[in-house]
Amino acid sequence: MTIFEKIVAGEIPCNKVLENDKFLAFNDINPKAPIHILIIPKKHFENFQEMDGTLMGEMTKFIQEVAVLMGVDKSGYRLVTNCGENGGQEVMHLHFHLLAGAKLGWVDTATDPQSTF
Ligand code: AMP
Repeated sequence: MTIFEKIVAGEIPCNKVLENDKFLAFNDINPKAPIHILIIPKKHFENFQEMDGTLMGEMTKFIQEVAVLMGVDKSGYRLVTNCGENGGQEVMHLHFHLLAGAKLGWVDTATDPQSTF
């Protein structure tokens, strides 16, 4: 079981932002921006490549709700999902990173392949 599945099961705590019956949003433990929220489906999918398209539609609405709740829907944010080994995925349960709260820089992964954001 991944750490995020344990969070969904209530076995380990999280700093919750928003929840419904299908999705959960919580603060990243190691924030890389002033606002750094992880958004996950409660059902297990290893990564974006495995995700169900219909559920993804519902997840889109949930992510938009998180952005409104955090007051960044107008000012803007970055949405990232790391998929698989070369994508830099560490936790093997699909999650989106919502990063906001500052004008974010952009990294050149061609010259700096270790940078993720
Ligand atoms: P990724 O590299 O895309 O798999 O990102 C995994 C993210 O999960 C990282 O940004 C970690 O800081 C974050 N993370 C790991 N464990 C926890 C936890 N228990 N609570 C919140 N965030 C976590």
